[in-house]
Amino acid sequence: MTTSNHAKVLKQIGGKPGKRAKYEKHNTPKPRKTGEGARKCVRCGRTGAHIRSYGLHLCRQCFRENATQLGFKQYS
Ligand SMILES: [Zn+2]
Repeated sequence: MTTSNHAKVLKQIGGKPGKRAKYEKHNTPKPRKTGEGARKCVRCGRTGAHIRSYGLHLCRQCFRENATQLGFKQYS
């Protein structure tokens, strides 16, 4: 289970406060200060293949989709 969808289970648990508290205690992801998990894509939330250059903070997929709009140009 990824950090982006752990909260989806909360909808299922719904009106069961005891179950909800237990789930949050054991399954809420730790807030990260360093490493791959600390850097998320600002557009989609992915943690892998993160581009920090020029303060972009995008994953490679979002960069690929938006590169021309951002002003990047492919020469070859
Ligand atoms: Zn992205």
